Amino acid sequence: MKEALRLALPVLQKLESQGYEAVFVGGCVRDTIMGRTLHDVDIATSATPEQVIASFPRTIPTGLQHGTITVIHGAETYEVTTYRTETAYEQFRRPAQVQFVTEHEADLLRRDFTINAMAMRADGTVVDPFGGMQDLQDRIIRCVGDADARLQEDALRMVRAIRFASEFNMRIAPQTWRALKQHSSLLVHVAMERVGAEADKMIGGSSPIRAIAWMAASGLLKYTKRQLPERIVQAAGEYERKRIHAVPIFEQLNKLDQIDDRWAGLCMGLGLGADEAFRLFDAFRFSTVRTQHLKTVMQVENDMQQALHSYQPMNSSDSLDLSQSDQLLFQTWMETILTYGKDAAASWLRTAAKTTGSNAAMDKLDDWLQTLPLSTVRDLAIGGADILALLQKPSGPWLGQLLNELLRSVVFGEVPNDKKRLLAEAARRQT
Ligand code: ATP
Ligand code: MG
Repeated sequence: MKEALRLALPVLQKLESQGYEAVFVGGCVRDTIMGRTLHDVDIATSATPEQVIASFPRTIPTGLQHGTITVIHGAETYEVTTYRTETAYEQFRRPAQVQFVTEHEADLLRRDFTINAMAMRADGTVVDPFGGMQDLQDRIIRCVGDADARLQEDALRMVRAIRFASEFNMRIAPQTWRALKQHSSLLVHVAMERVGAEADKMIGGSSPIRAIAWMAASGLLKYTKRQLPERIVQAAGEYERKRIHAVPIFEQLNKLDQIDDRWAGLCMGLGLGADEAFRLFDAFRFSTVRTQHLKTVMQVENDMQQALHSYQPMNSSDSLDLSQSDQLLFQTWMETILTYGKDAAASWLRTAAKTTGSNAAMDKLDDWLQTLPLSTVRDLAIGGADILALLQKPSGPWLGQLLNELLRSVVFGEVPNDKKRLLAEAARRQT
């Protein structure tokens, strides 16, 4: 049994000791069998939500009506959900009502795909009523029960089918695929937050490209509740026809660690302007803070890529002796470091270099990073107090601004990082 499951065992055992049934369920069972890293461990139980709350000292009623209680155990949290069936589906969306039941099989029956409809008991035995194990072996995504009915009940399942198929590099079972193509237009009924969450997992997953191509092939991209920028729908169609690898940035996407670097890379590769990118993030209901961050990443990436593109390597090894062609690269790079800090700058640089494939420039920038005299105002030979004492002025926003200007002067080689010279420069700038 995996470490993550072992850590959660006391939660199962506690419920069992009270006479309830409890099992691991869903993604954690599937990922255990596949030998993948687990990210969350979900538990299903015959205990009612109230009984779950009464069984543990620390709980959060996360989704009480749907039977989900978050149990805090040690340093981990677990979603414990009462066995349930979902009866009344509302217009191709999630059910308005659920019914709690005592049989685990009924609970597995409501789940989307056979590979997600397995449970594992505390002793490690697997409950697999729908052949999930076999489908894992054969690498097939297949609806539990009748695909036609299951995809109509909740149209998000079509997107999930593609997410799992692309992530695991599996096929979609013929009947499931036929039903999916037939019902793709029902996606228009699904809340964009849910589609956005799946899209995030696709772009953050092992093969964003495969996911995009599948999304195009299925027709689903055309039927989102809020329209996606036309260029995405169009471009996705081209990838489906295998032209995707002509665009280098896409091949590199899954080498990027940060999900937002991937979104930014995707938008840039598609040639989306800031406005269109914003429309995309807005359609997916990404938060304002996140959208703002994404815009920044795109802006910086754009600048860096332009600088990398126009960079011509020189023979000079004197790292701060700037040739004409070094200028743009150096400026962009330094401005990024000074504005966003060394770590963020280094991460964005790697992204830009990966997506443009400019190794020479990357080496150059690495050299610069090593020899960088200073990267924040704290590295300056003078501080705010020195300036206040010198100028005899009350502190204010001007002080931070002045320090920043001094930092830039030092970095760009106009003034040495020397206390006397910096004080003189400060006085000069403030008069
Ligand atoms: P991962 O967490 O790796 O993205 P997962 O399979 O755990 O994958 P979740 O969205 O966390 O996916 O859902 C947990 C489980 O709940 C699934 O494995 C599946 O059994 C069930 N499930 C989730 N969404 C649906 C749905 N729309 N319809 C039916 N069952 C679902
Ligand atoms: Mg999960």
